[in-house]
Amino acid sequence: MYKTTRNIAGGAHMRCEVCGHEISMNKICERPIQAATDMLKHMAAHNASRAFATVEPVMRPKPEPIPAGVAPLPPLPALPWIASSPQSPN
Ligand SMILES: [Zn+2]
Repeated sequence: MYKTTRNIAGGAHMRCEVCGHEISMNKICERPIQAATDMLKHMAAHNASRAFATVEPVMRPKPEPIPAGVAPLPPLPALPWIASSPQSPN
């Protein structure tokens, strides 16, 4: 999303919150349609990169959230010491 910012010189910019890309207000005033097109293209590029984030190898896949000690547990068919005792330890 673009946000309006001002630099030290007093010039206003529309700054992309995602990547910091800036379009000066002067450019927007001079060529509003061109500037709007650029901004839309820019946001579309961000959206596209987000949409393909799961396919493209640009972003590394996150490691599985399963801890190493949990995954390789052997499948236990039953817990006989619980199933056979009628009394709860509590
Ligand atoms: Zn951007």
